[in-house]
Amino acid sequence: MSRSHNFSAGPAVLPLEVLQRVEKELVDYKGTGSSIIELSHRGPEYTEVHTQAQEKLKKILGLGDDFEVLFLQGGASTQFLMVPYNYLREGETADYLNTGSWSSKAIKEAKLFGNVNEAFSSKDVNFNRVPTDSEVNYSDNPNYVHFTSNNTIFGTQFRKEPETGGTPLVCDASSDFLSRPIDVDKYGIIYAGAQKNAGPSGVTIVAIRKDMLEKAYTENIPSMMNYQTHAKTLFNTPPVFAVYFFNYVLDWIQDKGGLKQMEELNRKKAEKLYAELDKDDFFRGTAEKESRSHMNVTFRLADEDLEKTFIEEAAKQNLNGLKGHRSVGGMRASIYNACPEESVDALISFMQDFRQKHG
Ligand SMILES: *Cc1c(COP(=O)(O)O)cnc(C)c1O
Repeated sequence: MSRSHNFSAGPAVLPLEVLQRVEKELVDYKGTGSSIIELSHRGPEYTEVHTQAQEKLKKILGLGDDFEVLFLQGGASTQFLMVPYNYLREGETADYLNTGSWSSKAIKEAKLFGNVNEAFSSKDVNFNRVPTDSEVNYSDNPNYVHFTSNNTIFGTQFRKEPETGGTPLVCDASSDFLSRPIDVDKYGIIYAGAQKNAGPSGVTIVAIRKDMLEKAYTENIPSMMNYQTHAKTLFNTPPVFAVYFFNYVLDWIQDKGGLKQMEELNRKKAEKLYAELDKDDFFRGTAEKESRSHMNVTFRLADEDLEKTFIEEAAKQNLNGLKGHRSVGGMRASIYNACPEESVDALISFMQDFRQKHG
């Protein structure tokens, strides 16, 4: 077997142990003679998977019974509109922290429903940083504050939750979900597309606090867009395969020691890689140091003409998915939970050779 050193931003590397567990039981799930994706989503087998995944997620994240967990479809991009559909109307205001392309897309959707106060934007510096608390200008009484905890494209990440003075946070956590412990009390809604750090594409995990759920608008809103619809019942067919896989990723996280341990491992990988970037001027990290992401490490070469060669030569060494997003250019190494430390070591070793050869 030959596994790639996979630095793809998403869909991204998944835990090998989980892939193997799924492979082993795929064609005959627990003696049923069917795979889980061939059974009714209302039958006992899938019901168990769905409930287990909800319960395990609550346990791992430290969510109390005041939270509901939903497994929805349509990606994080659908949450960009579902959030304001449920919580913003004409004449009302929501605050958004604009720290990258994904935040900008969320803002665009919210503006269809009500006022958006861009409480912070780092657009003028090509989103190379996230704010400190004192830089954010909240409005007087926003319905919620939306932020993107990790900016997948620009390689920046909030080290802790923004301080909103009690306004519930709504967080797009797609690219650092379950990578570290969070202060759950500050959140009204946490949502994440699974395909970065939590599982295969197809499921969007939404954790929503019950008092927030009760505040949602229920008039003039299509059933599928209404959080209450999904909290009340399993309204339509969920993304069965993705939830099933996610359930095993949760086991894997628990086996590894939970979120504290994940955070330690992720910090260790990121610090190694940033240390290599900071050695001299040959490489250059694109994010400001205080804002650097532990998930997506974005960097350039001093000699930008060499970047194509870097990516090509890396691929020959089985180091894949390193091309940066076009809005930053250069390289991006996504080193999510499931990226083994050996892959980061292999990348660092390649970077050292490359510097020797071309520096
Ligand atoms: C990838 C990503 C999205 C978009 O997710 P989809 O599931 O493709 O809609 C949104 N936000 C962040 C932070 C992302 O990384």
